Formats: sequence, C-alpha cells, structure tokens
Amino acid sequence: MSGLLEAYAAVAGKDAISQLEQLTRPLKGMKVVHVNSTRVGGGVAEILEKLVPLSNELGMETRWEVISGNQEFYQCTKAMHNGLQGMTSPLSSAMMAAYQQTNEQNAEKLRPLLEEAEVVFIHDPQPAALMRFCPNRRGRWVWRCHIDASRPYRPVWRYIRQQVADYDASVFSLPDFAQAMPHPEYIIPPSIDPLSEKNIELPEQEIAEVRRQFELDPDRPLLLQVSRFDRFKDPVGVIEAHRLARKFSPGLQLVLAGGTADDDPEGEAVLQEVRAAAGDDPDIKVLLLPPDAHRTINALQRAADIVIQKSTKEGFGLTVTEGLWKGKPVIGGDTGGIRLQVVNYHTGFLVSTPEGAALRIRYLLHRRDRMAEMGAKAHQFVRENFLLTRHLREYLTLIVGLLHGAEYRIEL
Ligand code: UDP
Repeated sequence: MSGLLEAYAAVAGKDAISQLEQLTRPLKGMKVVHVNSTRVGGGVAEILEKLVPLSNELGMETRWEVISGNQEFYQCTKAMHNGLQGMTSPLSSAMMAAYQQTNEQNAEKLRPLLEEAEVVFIHDPQPAALMRFCPNRRGRWVWRCHIDASRPYRPVWRYIRQQVADYDASVFSLPDFAQAMPHPEYIIPPSIDPLSEKNIELPEQEIAEVRRQFELDPDRPLLLQVSRFDRFKDPVGVIEAHRLARKFSPGLQLVLAGGTADDDPEGEAVLQEVRAAAGDDPDIKVLLLPPDAHRTINALQRAADIVIQKSTKEGFGLTVTEGLWKGKPVIGGDTGGIRLQVVNYHTGFLVSTPEGAALRIRYLLHRRDRMAEMGAKAHQFVRENFLLTRHLREYLTLIVGLLHGAEYRIEL
C-alpha cells in the first residue's frame, strides 16, 4: 500500500481503503475528468484537491480542469447560483450569450480531453454547457450539483435543466435538493478530508497556544460557531442562546469565528449587527480570520466544549462535519444537511430557536458524561459517513453503475 493510502487507512480504517481498491481494480487506467470553475476557494475545489490525487493513487487517470470566463460570464453564473437557491434572479439574454460563448471557448481547449474521457464530472452550472460543444464525446457525462436546488427560481432552473438534460446522470447532495430529470439521479453527500490542515490531529500545545492567542480561559467552557457572517447562519441567534445559557453556566465563553468577505457587502452589515449584539461582553469573542486559517479553526474546534451551527438555512454544513469529527456534540439548526449529520441525543441536538439551543447547552454542560459519549459517537458517525474515502467510494460505484447500464448483475 502506498504512503497516501496508508495514511487514509490509519484514519478511515483499512476496510475503507480495501473497498476503494476493490472498486478500482476493474477501472485501472480509466480516464476520468472533473471540471469546475475555480481551483481555490469554495467547497468544490477543496474536495477535488484531495479526491483527484486519491483516485490517481488508486490507478485511475483522473484530471481536474478549470474553466475561466469574463465578468459577464460570472455575473450569469452568480445569478444562476442565486436562482438555484430560490432567489428571483432573471438571466438576461446578454448573460445567456456570455454563458454559451464562455463554454464554447473553454471547449475549444478542453475538447480533445473531454471527448476522449470515459467519464466526465461537471460540477455545478458554470461548465454545464460544455457538453453541447463536444459532439464526438464517447464517455458518460455526470452533472454534479452541489447547490441547494430544492426550491429554485423556475426560469433559471428551466435554463440550467436544458443544459444538463442530455447528461447520463445527475448527482445531488441531499434527496431534498433533487429535481425531476430525464435521467437517473444519485444522492451523494459531501465529505471532509481527515488529512487536511483543517481536520488533522493537533498537538495539545498548539491548541493551548490558540487559546492564549484569543484570550480564552481554559478552565471555563467554550461554545463555538465557525461561519461566514451571513444571516442564514444566525450569529445573532447564537449570541442570544449564549446569553440565555449563561444564566445556568455563568462562565460560558462564546467564540464566533468567520472570515472577511470583501466581495460580499452584506457580510460587513451582518458583522456590524453581530458586533452590536455582542457589545463589550468580554466573554464573547468575534474573530475575523484570514481564508487560510485552517489550523486555527481546527484548534478552535478542538478547544471548544460544544460546537454550534444555528443556521436557519444550510446546504450541507461542513462546519458541522468538522465539529463532529473533533468529537464535539453539535447543536445545529433543524434544516438542510444539518439534519443528516446531527442525530438528536446521539451526535448532538437539532434546534429551531435560541431558547432551544440554550436548553441543550445547559443539558450538555451539566451532563459531562453524556457530552463525552455523544462526542465519541459524533466522531464515529463522521468516520463512517462523511469522510473523503466514502465520497470517492460512491463516485466509483456510480461509475461502475453507469458503465454497466441496466445489467442485472455486476461482478466487481
Ligand atoms: N470556513 C473558513 N473560514 C471562515 C468560515 C468558514 O475556513 O471564516 C470554512 C469552514 O471551516 C468550512 C467552510 O468554510 O469548511 C464552510 O462550509 P459550510 O458548508 O459550513 O458553509 P458555507 O460557507 O459553504 O455556506
């Protein structure tokens, strides 16, 4: 076994790796291409950065290509993203023209690779029109939608659907996000990489250093929410929950950690609201971290007693997965992908109000035994369901299924 596979076996278990080896045995040398629209930033890039080398390590020939476009194209794809999430964001004819043109230009460059590939994964709507510019394609094409498309703005959805209708399959993260399609649909939730800076084990000393850096008292309990400053993440609700919980646990500290969002004018406004709600309370820390502060976030998650993600709307919620992986019970908003991860009384608690969250915080802080038990279950739950190895296994299974079509029996 190679060094990389051994490293994954050590965290995900030997079985997880032998399943991958078994699945890839008949697929060795297979040409697979993933296409998205950014090399860095965002969950898709984060996943591909690890998934592609791991699948190559297993003997497949996997490539990751990125398309690029001009400002008009990005205006269009931003409107598509918003529209998929339900916002009324019409696409103008200039936007649609820029979208088609950009896809055509990118296809010029990528055509030989895409037409030759045996399986092509197209991530999200940005590169979805590439298919129509690859008339001699010989492989199976899969549209992988990472966005919450459960209640899309219909005109945008109709346009995107036209782009992907001829694909061989679509993949959504949750059953709720799937839309009626003229081809088979698969549900594959996202994952975290246990070997990334965000998730690797850290020495106690490093965690202690981060506590010192942010003036956190190691002898008092810590509640943590890591999130962009976005109203749907309900940071003000978290402050409210903390205030209520403190009546029963006077020393409780709260950290709200998020990034600066230069391109998001709303982020700044939400940050101001959060600062106003926190006031000059010394036990509430609002931290603005740079985008590459992965180890710091890792350390904060490990330093926390309870991780909270009180979102009122959430696609999947990788911060929930990250908290659970660190053996913390997570108190999560009863919405979207959080429901898939937080199992009441087992890996955490689902809540809908600050009062509900405060009640659960009180319960956990008074029942340290239950907290440890739930934390252990939380870690195990992620190990079995939300690691990169499971994610790749499901992509491989999908490939096997696509290649064998409607055969009654598939020998692996
Ligand atoms: N994150 C980060 N810095 C921040 C805020 C978030 O690195 O300041 C990371 C967080 O650890 C997680 C991802 O960004 O890996 C957020 O993913 P999630 O699915 O929770 O929410 P999204 O931002 O995609 O709505």
